[in-house]
Amino acid sequence: MSSRDSDAQRAANAEAPRIENLLGRIGSLFAPHRPLLTLTIVLVLVDAALTVVPPLLTQQAFDRGLFPKGGPDLPVLLQLVGLMILVWVLSAGLGIWQTFLTATVGNRVMGAMRVSLFRHLQAMELGFFTRTKTGVIQSRLANDVGGVAGVLSNTVSSVIGNVVTVIAAFTAMLLLSWQLTLIAVVLLPALAVAQRRVGRIRARIATQTQESLSEMTAITQETLSVSGILLAKSFGRAESENARYAAENDNQIRLQVRQAMSGQGFFAFVQIFLSVVPALVYLVSAFLIQGGADITPGTIVAFTTVQSRLMWPLMGLMRVALDLQTSGALFARIFEYFDLVPAIRDRPDAVTLTDADRLGEIEFRDVEFHYPGAAGRPTLKDVSFRIEPGQFVAFVGPSGAGKTTVSYLIPRLYDVTGGAVLFAGHDVRDIAQESLLEQIGIVSQETYLFHATIRDNLRYAKPDATDEEIASAARQANIAGTIESFPEGYDTVVGERGYRLSGGEKQRVAIARVILKDPAVLVLDEATSALDSVSERAVQAALDTASRGRTTIAIAHRLSTVADADVIHVVERGRIVESGTARELTGQGGLFARLAAQQSA
Ligand code: ATP
Repeated sequence: MSSRDSDAQRAANAEAPRIENLLGRIGSLFAPHRPLLTLTIVLVLVDAALTVVPPLLTQQAFDRGLFPKGGPDLPVLLQLVGLMILVWVLSAGLGIWQTFLTATVGNRVMGAMRVSLFRHLQAMELGFFTRTKTGVIQSRLANDVGGVAGVLSNTVSSVIGNVVTVIAAFTAMLLLSWQLTLIAVVLLPALAVAQRRVGRIRARIATQTQESLSEMTAITQETLSVSGILLAKSFGRAESENARYAAENDNQIRLQVRQAMSGQGFFAFVQIFLSVVPALVYLVSAFLIQGGADITPGTIVAFTTVQSRLMWPLMGLMRVALDLQTSGALFARIFEYFDLVPAIRDRPDAVTLTDADRLGEIEFRDVEFHYPGAAGRPTLKDVSFRIEPGQFVAFVGPSGAGKTTVSYLIPRLYDVTGGAVLFAGHDVRDIAQESLLEQIGIVSQETYLFHATIRDNLRYAKPDATDEEIASAARQANIAGTIESFPEGYDTVVGERGYRLSGGEKQRVAIARVILKDPAVLVLDEATSALDSVSERAVQAALDTASRGRTTIAIAHRLSTVADADVIHVVERGRIVESGTARELTGQGGLFARLAAQQSA
């Protein structure tokens, strides 16, 4: 099953995550903002309490100001109207302040969540990224975290404010007339049940929508990148890529419409119910008054006012409950990433390497390695060798033999499944990762340059490098002349992945970057294999300079490039089958001799 199919399958099977199970975790996100949150809650409470006052003033205005026994009483009416205006102005001011506070808290919580998710993903092991589509990861950061932003900022104030308003309004209604209040609440339990059902449906659609959004991001990311567009153009696949995008887009439209429509019937019903109540109130009031109840015109006007003002908070609460259920799906997706435990972590007592260690010394002891999740025989088996500081060691052998894998185990990009890898006498699992990676520079066939100036790309290796150090590294890497011939020199912006430079130029920029980093160990993985012979000579010269005084590990197909190695290990099907100098190995007449003979032929 392709990953695309499995995404779709997952979306179809997706059991809507229950927000109830996530509330504690969501609440803990707010913990650092307790003071602001408390202030917000106080404002919300005051504001909500204030909303009950005007209807009570209305009742008074009717019964004591407009229609008292002896005709209208203007002074009383003026007082009451003045009070009403004051309450409204105060309430509006509080509302603005409250919006500011909730937006601040909501966005801070979301911002903190985004940064910690980014940090968490940075800590994930390489294997995670080889298994997961880049676009899918980007989508969780952008679409899912962005999607809960509104919920984070609105929910707290909305829930508290509306609950208080509803309670206050009910109190006011009960104070005015308990009989009329009964009419207004009779259908509420039914609404609550319906609301839960609608919420579940919406949560399921939200999960599917986010899955589809992340699939679209993945397609965009794969297709509209330099490599993707090159592939699509060179294979004439533009149309089929368009069709793939359009199909997912149709799916997205369908889901968005479903999401927009789900619950609309429910809301319409609630609205009708709340609008019909005042009419019922008039009707019932007539019977109550006939039965001798004390219901004045002021009571009826005040009651219907409160009741209609109850409509919005009630609708608001129902919407929030639905939004929360919907956002449960998004929160679950975010927490799912937070719950990923990096397979490769520092031990609590991890050592930091110092110059006192034999920094260029590497040893493999009976290493066995299986790629996580890969079936079949191990990729490496019984691999043992030792590299002394400053040695030039090469790994050669047929494609797929496991040479690159050897180079991954030294910087601990993966953990061995058997045996041990030692660096400077320490098991690499005992060394702080940052400290280990600082000692290792890698130049591979696939050079990655940022869309930034050449200077910035070089500084990536050493942020405090002076211009002189940068120029010196470029000279050693044989690229200074080329860079200086560009009109903008070191400030030339290279395109994403360095596509404005030729393969050989990019490679030499990468070598200059490694020279600036100045690691104890240099790993060259097929660093020159993609180049023509002129470029290769330039890059090879740069590499010779770069490897001077460091342990150098070269992985090569072209045996001529490693003829000078102190030791060559020949790898075949995950094992080292021969070791020695080029001369010794040629003399042995084994695999190396056969490969050499093939290449010279
Ligand atoms: P080449 O000379 O073609 O680059 P290599 O000798 O460097 O080959 P490796 O890249 O080390 O070979 O791969 C060794 C084996 O491990 C191959 O069979 C490959 O398919 C497998 N392999 C590589 N990366 C992974 C991965 N991330 N997950 C599972 N298997 C992998």
